[in-house]
This record gives sequence, C-alpha cells and structure tokens, in this order.
Amino acid sequence: MIHLKTPEEIDVIARGGAIIADFLVEIRPRIRPGVSTLELDGFADDFIRAHAGAVPAFKGLYGFPGSVCTSTNEEVVHGIPKADRILEEGDLISIDVGVKLDGWCSDSAWTFPVGEIDEEAKHLLEVTEDALDRAVAATVLGGYVGDIGAAVVTRVEGTGLSIIRDLVGHGVGREVHEEPQVPNFGRAGMGPALREGMVVAIEPMLSWGTFEIQTLDDHWTVVTQDGTRAAHFEHTVAVTAAGPRVLTVAPAEAPA
Ligand code: MG
Ligand code: MG
Repeated sequence: MIHLKTPEEIDVIARGGAIIADFLVEIRPRIRPGVSTLELDGFADDFIRAHAGAVPAFKGLYGFPGSVCTSTNEEVVHGIPKADRILEEGDLISIDVGVKLDGWCSDSAWTFPVGEIDEEAKHLLEVTEDALDRAVAATVLGGYVGDIGAAVVTRVEGTGLSIIRDLVGHGVGREVHEEPQVPNFGRAGMGPALREGMVVAIEPMLSWGTFEIQTLDDHWTVVTQDGTRAAHFEHTVAVTAAGPRVLTVAPAEAPA
C-alpha cells in the first residue's frame, strides 16, 4: 500500500534530504584520482552522523556493508566501498546516499567525474541528469507514476543511450523502499495515480550500451552486461498541490 505523508512529515524528510544535498556538495572535491571508495564511505558516515538524529540509512540495509553505495564506470548501482578500489583519472563514480532522520528516510544519488572525463562520459552524465529533471517535472498531482518513466523515455530517445529497465525508483518514508515502484521506462497515464502526500525516489539509470544488467559474485554490485559505462541520478520528491517538491536539496537550492 502507498503511504501518504502529511506536510509535517514531508518537512522532516526534507531536513534529512538537505543533509544529503550538503554531503553531495562536500564530497565533490574529495572525488579525485588516488582516493579509495572506502575513504569516501568513511567521510559519508562521519558527515551524516555529525547531524543529531541522523544515521546512514543504507548501512546494514538488507545486510549492505557500506554507508553509501559507490558504483564506478560499468557498475550501475550497489557498489560496495572498498579500500582497494582506487579512483583513476577518467572514471565515473555514482554515490548513492540514504539518510534516516528522526525515523524518516530520504534517498539521493549523483554520478561524478573523476578528474577529466571523455566526451562520451560527459554526454552520459548530461543526459541522465536531464532525464531526472524531466522526470521530476512530470511528478504532478493529477498525473500517474507512468508519466515519470515516460518523461525519461522521451528525453533519452535519440541519444543512443539505453535505459536500465530492471531497476526502479520507489516510494520513500519510514522505510527506504516503499510502494509504489517507479519505473524509468513508462507509459504516460499508466500505473498508480500521483496523489498529494506521495513521496517517491526518482532515479533514472542510463548506460552507453545495453540495458541488460547482471549482479556480480559479491551479490551486490550491479553492472552492465556488456561492460559499458552507466550513470545514475536520484532525488526524493514529494507530490504537493504546489507541484513537485524536491526534498533532497539544500534549503538555499529549494525553489521558492
Ligand atoms: Mg538511492
Ligand atoms: Mg532509491
């Protein structure tokens, strides 16, 4: 069942989301060649716990060992932070972060370049981030969950990139993952109606090659089947009478 949130509950989720937004600003200068993904994970854990009442929502979730997911290059999601995964010039790294604050979760992800990246990688990042923006804009009262995926499809068509179809966005609330599922590959007018108080994580994932994925032997890391690079951008968004409210932004970035 889909749990609708009150405006007060949405405000708490937004406070957790602001911690994530601040973290994503602070982590950026730390993402450079020579840094391990485990170091980034340690910074994330310290940063989140420095806020009273806040814990990393992914730590131990379904047994996940890290405080954030760090997925590089052909890794799409759920990469485990490692001491021996040292970032190199030209890599892409997606950092997926969940915060639980006063019992409420928020969820966001961003894909960063490591040093200078090639034109192919820039194109991948630009289109995926833009697909997220379009999907957020489609998250309006009177619409349907399928409109969100349809917005991603419309943006990605003609770019040569593929939408990862087997991984989806989701409702967010007391739990990181709630109903409904929010596919990135949708048809307008289909799926559950978007209702006031729904809070969803919207998270398009695109690859340079195939949309097909597989999970590595570590039982976590999801990679593209053909080894081409992937990107992942995610925001937690509330459906409100005033339009989509992005909750994983710093207060200064929040639209008036
Ligand atoms: Mg996430
Ligand atoms: Mg998510």
